[in-house]
Amino acid sequence: MSYPQVVIDLNKLRHNTSYLVDLCHQKSIQVAGVSKVFCADPKMVKVMMDNGIDYIADSRIDNLRKIKDFKVPKILLRLPMISEVDEVVRYSDISLNSEVVTIEALNSAAKLAKCMHEIILMCDIGDLREGIFDKTELINTIRSVLQMENIKLVGLGTNITCYGGVIPTPEVLGKLVTIKEKVENTFNLQLNIISGGNSSSIELLKKGEMPKAINHLRLGESIILGRETAFGNPISNTFDDCMLLKAEIIELKEKPSVPIGEIGMDAFGKVPEFVDKGIRKRAICAVGKQDVDLADIIPIDKWVDILGGSSDHLIVDVTDSKRDYKVGDIMTFKLTYGSILSLMTSAYVDVQYI
Ligand SMILES: *Cc1c(COP(=O)(O)O)cnc(C)c1O
Repeated sequence: MSYPQVVIDLNKLRHNTSYLVDLCHQKSIQVAGVSKVFCADPKMVKVMMDNGIDYIADSRIDNLRKIKDFKVPKILLRLPMISEVDEVVRYSDISLNSEVVTIEALNSAAKLAKCMHEIILMCDIGDLREGIFDKTELINTIRSVLQMENIKLVGLGTNITCYGGVIPTPEVLGKLVTIKEKVENTFNLQLNIISGGNSSSIELLKKGEMPKAINHLRLGESIILGRETAFGNPISNTFDDCMLLKAEIIELKEKPSVPIGEIGMDAFGKVPEFVDKGIRKRAICAVGKQDVDLADIIPIDKWVDILGGSSDHLIVDVTDSKRDYKVGDIMTFKLTYGSILSLMTSAYVDVQYI
């Protein structure tokens, strides 16, 4: 066991997963548990699987490869690179797509691997990240896909509140439903999956305003942080602390709050500014920007203030704390989506489970 360390509470994760899965299943919505923020940590994926998740979804093939032996259908979330199609058909059952040349490459790869590869076509309904925007292009793409022997079109999907910040409403998601109906009528087929977005759709779901045709959501942040992402509100009855950061204090001293000498650039080329609060008690924790953006961690001790840091050091003001910190003590921090992402990706951070 070493520090810095991310502590994962598998019981809290179990609770959040089953709470959100129940919420969705009650409305006949299937859930893809999104594992990219925690790099598809197998123990966490297992908890999601054991608590009713219908699919595991990740943006990266490297992550899906880690869990290749888990018996759960796997979705590749990021549009495939043509250079990785062999791995895509091998490690994912379904991929999200928007480019016909890529789907052709997937078809060839699936033929070679003697398998069928399923796809969900992404429709851009206004958030302007991935997806086919033009209706004629969508119809032409489907016409081509239906000719491909080793590709099965299983559904349509959309992604919102990611790039453009578009909030899901019945009107916005209604656009996807209209497209679904048009496609089904044009080609006389039935689409099994209508994937209506990510954790930003939870609020709409709870209000009971999700269009009925939407039968699939891809949930990451809501499960891990108990937070919906349209407005950033906590979801009641869920935990926001399934994952915490623990860092060790390596120095504790009283120092002035303004540096002494002419101020030039800091280690990252920025000119820092300081407020003179007199002599303060400061702690240095052994964690830094190489592990995490220091603006994205929140001390559990609400009397502790983050002052800043550098690649390997976090400096906090502990003057007002009720706790009598000592060198060697462990300080605990709550996390955000961004800090979980970078901490789980850092090779310097230990991971422990409780
Ligand atoms: C990351 C991602 C999700 C999950 O988003 P959350 O806000 O974490 O629920 C869903 N869909 C796609 C395409 C993604 O890339």
